[in-house]
Amino acid sequence: MSRKERAHILIIYTGGTIGMIQNAETGALESFNFDHLLNHVPELKQLSIDIDTITFDPPIDSSDMEPGMWSRIVTTIEKSYDQYDGYVILHGTDTMSFTASALSFMLEDLMKPVILTGSQLPIGALRTDGKENLITAIEIAAAKKADGTPVVPEVCVFFHEKLMRGNRTTKINSESFGAFGSNNYPLLAMAGTDIQFYNRNIKKYIPGLKLKAHHEYNSNIVIFSLFPGIQQEVVEKLLSAKELKGIIFRTYGAGNAPQKKWLIDALSKATAEGKIIINITQCAGGSVHMERYGTGLQLQEAGVISGHDSTVEAALTKLMYLLGKDLPVEEVRRRMEISFAGEISV
Ligand code: ASP
Repeated sequence: MSRKERAHILIIYTGGTIGMIQNAETGALESFNFDHLLNHVPELKQLSIDIDTITFDPPIDSSDMEPGMWSRIVTTIEKSYDQYDGYVILHGTDTMSFTASALSFMLEDLMKPVILTGSQLPIGALRTDGKENLITAIEIAAAKKADGTPVVPEVCVFFHEKLMRGNRTTKINSESFGAFGSNNYPLLAMAGTDIQFYNRNIKKYIPGLKLKAHHEYNSNIVIFSLFPGIQQEVVEKLLSAKELKGIIFRTYGAGNAPQKKWLIDALSKATAEGKIIINITQCAGGSVHMERYGTGLQLQEAGVISGHDSTVEAALTKLMYLLGKDLPVEEVRRRMEISFAGEISV
């Protein structure tokens, strides 16, 4: 295969367990130098793919991930977009679904694969899941159809045999190799002996679309979860906070809340002040249907918006992204209920 036909992939190492090896002397886990990736993963030489790497300086534990770093990733992709066929982002698993969701909104009209992966065990560990995740993520990022267009032109998470739409994922297990789930959207591919792509679930490639990169965000948002016995004073203080612009409101079942006048009054007051409240179910799967029960309908009447079947990660990052644009409140409310990057089923 000529060099021109070989896919060209950029790996962006942000940090996390995957890029760690054990220091032979101290036994401590340290980030390895990705310039020497081929020394650590010689298997990559067998792929007919050209690979460049960039490392966050310093690499971070993904608990320290910040929206400004999402913007750095966006800038890297924006600036090198004509140079590469696809991207692999190596990321700690803890906040990977937040980053994948945020990137799906910040990279509007993306027509190339951006595959996030990581691992539960360091790449230098004997039983590591990191090599399989990394090698397959690279193959997916490089995969093209017969006409030369990318197979997966969207932001995805690949983890333990499963390719998932990034903004549909949640970290579901802190120990198992199967650390991510996509409860409300089917898989995009399964990697067994072959990689089976499920094309009907994958975003369609549209020729001629130009990438539009977005960098603005507003993170004056809170995630607020209901529980039996929740106290009036605490809720009222939270919802009346002056800087607060948006609330991801985690309700019961199909989007239900207790029938307490003080709660509805506090929610109504907040929405009247222009705060945007998104109803997301506490259930691991399924959708919000506020019209189904009186306990949901009262929220709709208080101005709460349905988050449909969105994950918390997708609703939160979408709201940050929209609030960053200084749009009128009504426009943010309207856009929250439209699918931007396949994050909700409407
Ligand atoms: N705490 C690590 C991180 O999220 C865990 C991991 O990499 O999986 O960066």
